[in-house]
Formats: sequence, C-alpha cells, structure tokens
Amino acid sequence: MPLYEYACADCGHRFEILQRIGETADGLTCPECDAERLEKQFSTFASSSDGKSAPAPGGGCGAGSGFT
Ligand SMILES: [Zn+2]
Repeated sequence: MPLYEYACADCGHRFEILQRIGETADGLTCPECDAERLEKQFSTFASSSDGKSAPAPGGGCGAGSGFT
C-alpha cells in the first residue's frame, strides 16, 4: 500500500496517509484543523523522470509462435 502525502489547503499542515491505489481523499480531513480541503502531494521518491520504466509501446512479446 503506497504512502500518500497531503497538504491542508487551509492551514498548510502536511501529513501522510496510507491509501490504496486509486483511492481518493474523500472523507479525509486535516488532523490539525479538521478542514476537508486537502491537496495531494506527489512523493518525490516516486518520480520517474528518467522514463526508464515506461511500458513498451505495442510490440508485445511475440515469442515462440513457430516463426522460422
Ligand atoms: Zn488544516
């Protein structure tokens, strides 16, 4: 389960929450001021600006179909 970081739009408090992938911040409130306006922060360690992990376009692994 990934760890998401949220920032409160009201008081600016930042906190982390364990969430399932795709889960939204619905129902979450700031632990400091109880506001519901939270902004999801993107974890710095999860950034993939290298583009190394991009999925192969089309292609597919057509291995072993009697191609000789
Ligand atoms: Zn707050």
